[in-house]
Amino acid sequence: MKYVTFLSADGPRVGLLTSPSTVTEVLVAGGLPEVITTGGDLPLGAEHAYTDLTILAPIPEPARNIMCVGKNYREHASEFAGSGYDGGADVVVPQFPIIFTKAPSSVTGPDTTVVPPSVVKETDYEAEFAVIIGRGGRDITKDEAMSHVWGYTLINDLTARDLQRDHKQWFLGKSPDGFAPMGPLAVTADEVNLDELVLTGTVNGELRQKASAADLIFDVPTLIATISSVLTLQPGDIIATGTPAGVGIGFTPPRFLTAGDIVEVSAPGLGVLRTTIG
Ligand code: MG
Repeated sequence: MKYVTFLSADGPRVGLLTSPSTVTEVLVAGGLPEVITTGGDLPLGAEHAYTDLTILAPIPEPARNIMCVGKNYREHASEFAGSGYDGGADVVVPQFPIIFTKAPSSVTGPDTTVVPPSVVKETDYEAEFAVIIGRGGRDITKDEAMSHVWGYTLINDLTARDLQRDHKQWFLGKSPDGFAPMGPLAVTADEVNLDELVLTGTVNGELRQKASAADLIFDVPTLIATISSVLTLQPGDIIATGTPAGVGIGFTPPRFLTAGDIVEVSAPGLGVLRTTIG
């Protein structure tokens, strides 16, 4: 099933895509997190034309930080190491998953304009697919991990490269307001075959990133096992799985985003996440 979160006069509401152009409201007060925890058939309400709606991020206000993975595709790990923005790191392909987070307040919806803070001069894009956790847990094994996945969405892990480089820890560079565009769809796991998922990222229509989810250095079960080995995953947690090669710092000279640029992250079945840089 494909869900969206949309803006109504009463605030955010969840809808089910009952046809490619029709959104049928799901009658829950708690948004997608309630759909995730309740499961099963939920009462449905009014139908809306998709094009009439303002689509928000699937979970507009996550309960806690977005968990993210650094350098999780080989070619991207190599381009990052060679860019001069990685603090002279000498290990190109990490031995263990690099987990960092973005503040919940960095989340914004699809089709929004993101204005970088004035201190940021080097804004970069990162096309990614993200896991939405269904059943929480601690010490989840790789074998059990996929049964804890509720579904998937798209994220543009926008990054202030200058802050990421200068402050060493990535939190500031990853967490400006609006730097986590997400959506437009939240698709249940039964509809997504990770072995066939191909992720693309474009800037102003020019293809910059393209990779298969199957190329992840650390696959989804490994990420879930790693994270849950130290903290209890909760329903609605979001794990952004990393970005392929082709980001702005992979070019010489780097190709940072500027006002008016349009970035699109897409994958068949997960929709198109479009962001304009302001
Ligand atoms: Mg990333």
